[in-house]
Parts: sequence; C-alpha cells; structure tokens
Amino acid sequence: MPVPFIDLKRFEPDFLDRWMAKCRDLTVNTRFVLGPEVAELEKRLIEESGAKAVVACANGTDAIQLALRAAGVGIGDKVLIPDMTFWATFEAVCNVGAKPITVDLDMADLQMDFDLFRKAAEEVRPKAAILVHLYGWGTARLDDYRQYCAEKGILLIEDGAQCFGAKFNGHSLMKDAWLGTVSFYPAKVLGASGDAGAVYCSSAELAEKVRQLGNHGRTTHYEHGLVGWNSRVGVFESSFLLLCMDYIDARLESRRKVAAQYRERFAEAGIRTVGPPEGYLENGYLAVTLHDPAGRPALAEALKAKGIGFGTVYPGAMSLQSGANGWIAGKYGGERADYVARGILNPPLFAYMRDEEVEEVMAVMVEVAK
Ligand SMILES: *Cc1c(COP(=O)(O)O)cnc(C)c1O
Repeated sequence: MPVPFIDLKRFEPDFLDRWMAKCRDLTVNTRFVLGPEVAELEKRLIEESGAKAVVACANGTDAIQLALRAAGVGIGDKVLIPDMTFWATFEAVCNVGAKPITVDLDMADLQMDFDLFRKAAEEVRPKAAILVHLYGWGTARLDDYRQYCAEKGILLIEDGAQCFGAKFNGHSLMKDAWLGTVSFYPAKVLGASGDAGAVYCSSAELAEKVRQLGNHGRTTHYEHGLVGWNSRVGVFESSFLLLCMDYIDARLESRRKVAAQYRERFAEAGIRTVGPPEGYLENGYLAVTLHDPAGRPALAEALKAKGIGFGTVYPGAMSLQSGANGWIAGKYGGERADYVARGILNPPLFAYMRDEEVEEVMAVMVEVAK
C-alpha cells in the first residue's frame, strides 16, 4: 500500500463547506487586504501562545527579516545561526545586510549546540543570534540560550517556523521568546491556503515596529516613518488559518501519536531515532530517523519501490550550500550537520494518517533495516 510523505487533503468532514462559505463572503465583499480576520488571527495566536503581541505577515522568511529589522540588526552585523536549518534562516540574515556565522548541531536533539554556540559568541561577539526550533521540538538548552544571550546582550530571535503547537514546560515556545517567528507555509503543522507567517513579540513597542516595517513603514496611509516593505498577510490566508485553528488540537494529537508510535517501533528494531528532549511536548511536525549515510540510498530505494514517501529534512548543511559563498562570515564545526544531512530520513507524518498506513510504513522500514 503506497503512503505519501504528506497528504494535506484530509480535511475534517465540515471543513470544506465552512471554507467555501467564507471564500464566498470575502469575495462578495471584496475584503482582501487587512481587516477583522487578520486582527482575529493575531488575537487567536496571542491566546494560543501566551506571547505579549503577535503581528501576522506574508511568510515565515519575512517574519525573520521583520524580527531582525525590528531588533535593529543591519549592515555588517554578525549573526550566529545553526548550520542545520532551512535556508530561509540564512537568507534572512543576508537580506538585512548582516553576516551569518554557522554553528554545528548537538547530536542528542539535533538543535544548535549550546557549548559551541557560547564559544563562537565569545570569539565573534555577534550582535544577534537565531535559534531555530527544528522538527517539532527545541533545544534541551533553551533556558541556557535565553539566559546567556540576555546576559551578554546578544539579541536572540527564535525561528519557530516548525514549532507551532510544540510546548516547553507546558507553554508555547513563543511565550517567552524575545522575538519569535512562525511560518504558515501549507506543509507546516498549521498551514495556510498560501503563504503566511507571524512575528511573536515580547513588548508592544517591538510589535509596533514590526507592524510598521511590514506595512511600508506607515505612520498614516501616506506618511512613512520607516523604510519597510509590504509583508502584509492575506485575508484568505488568515481566514483559512482561523478555520484550521478550530481543529488544531485534533490535528496535533493525531501527529503526536504517530510520531510516538514510530519511535517505539523503530527503537525495538534497532533503528536510530531522535525525539524531543525532556520538558518538551512535540507538535509531530517531522519524525526523525538517522541512518549510516552509506546505507541511506538503499533504504530510500526500498521505500520508493514500496511507494512509501519520505523526506530528508534537510539534505545539506547551510555552510555547504553554493549560495553561501560570499555571504558566510564564519563557521563553527559543521561535521555533525553534514553527517545528519546525509543520514537523516523522515518517514511519512501528517494529521489523520490511518492506522494501516502507519503500520505499513513501520513494517517496510523495519524490514529494510534488517
Ligand atoms: C519553513 C521555514 C522557514 C520559512 O518559512 P516560509 O513561510 O516558507 O517563508 C524558515 N525557517 C524554517 C526553519 C522553516 O522550516
């Protein structure tokens, strides 16, 4: 039985009717830019996260750029980032004129290595850092990162593109982030009907700055207090997200259950897995298995032959991308990120996977791993 890596079409029974009715309403009233749906989305995101303020924007990459700009990070500033992340983290730093320096990951949780980060910070004295919460959890050293950066005056931005719904000590990771970001790209845990993102802010002042930057630096409609750009979120996307939020608990539960099932069965079969560290409740964004890089191609072939989809998130470290040439300003380690890039394999994981699909994936993976 074929199983896709991801299937976004498993809507709840009444979802499509509700969505179609909303589309009709928005279209009939030509309500396309800003308005009550955007305000409602921001309100719901505040309630969900416990953050002080939230500003919705066009996508998760812009969210990072808005956060960097609002933090005052700009031309020539050094920014530490993990070597293992999505390329947008690297791009965002470059796009505000700053210089990315990569830091290797910690094999225990696959997040940026705190001890190496501290060494890098002491040597390069960065203005800012971006901590990325990858795979549906975050670093075991979250408190250490926040405390260290606060003490040293390093502006810490948390790229939470993948962590919507994940919890640390019972709270959203965005609750205590100084500036955090999320992506609502359709394939993320909470996905929109197109591109969308948001910035979580720890103060009303930061939120005001972010809001202004993302709407042409406006103070009034034709008065501009800052040079920003247009990063407004769409009304269709906001409405779709609001609708999805009515069902998000069930979607998260369904993902978490499968992620846990995978880990249990794979551990029994001697397949190496990585999951959330102590204190985390994952959101079930991705399941992570690690393989000997030399053996991964054979596993991939076997899965393809059986029609089982899979991901390799991510297949290359940031510092090794050809696009990094001319932009990267330093590199701490990188061997582990490279190893993980060549050995990682993500089995299918999405909301409302059927039991027989989960069984099939586990059976094939275990068979091939023998
Ligand atoms: C998806 C993602 C982004 C970018 O978000 P977009 O909405 O696609 O711009 C940034 N960082 C990480 C870690 C991501 O996974």
